[in-house]
Amino acid sequence: MPFRVLIADDLKFVRDAVREILENAGFLVAGEAENGYEAVRIYLKERPDIVILDITMPVMDGLKALEKIKRLDPHAKVIMCSALGQQEYIIRSIQLGARDFIVKPFKPERIVSAVTRACA
Ligand SMILES: [Mg+2]
Repeated sequence: MPFRVLIADDLKFVRDAVREILENAGFLVAGEAENGYEAVRIYLKERPDIVILDITMPVMDGLKALEKIKRLDPHAKVIMCSALGQQEYIIRSIQLGARDFIVKPFKPERIVSAVTRACA
């Protein structure tokens, strides 16, 4: 069974890019969310193996969504993703239980290696 990944980013072109990278690497996309609230909702419904969470999103940001997902499922594997210049969120993300932190713009290999490592 391929690992299933939930992609949360408010920008569709980013979700599309991540989806293509993951599918080319043999992963399955369990769902797409455009805000943190949707990410939590889809997480509970789909129980993906991995979540990729953008930080800056409307309605509920990625840090809040990370906190909620980890509270609902302490074993959740979450990779944070954020724009250059937001590295101050790295420490907070790790404190909240994130596995990894990817800085945009990202290279496809970075996404694949982060997801592969989180699945191990
Ligand atoms: Mg964003």
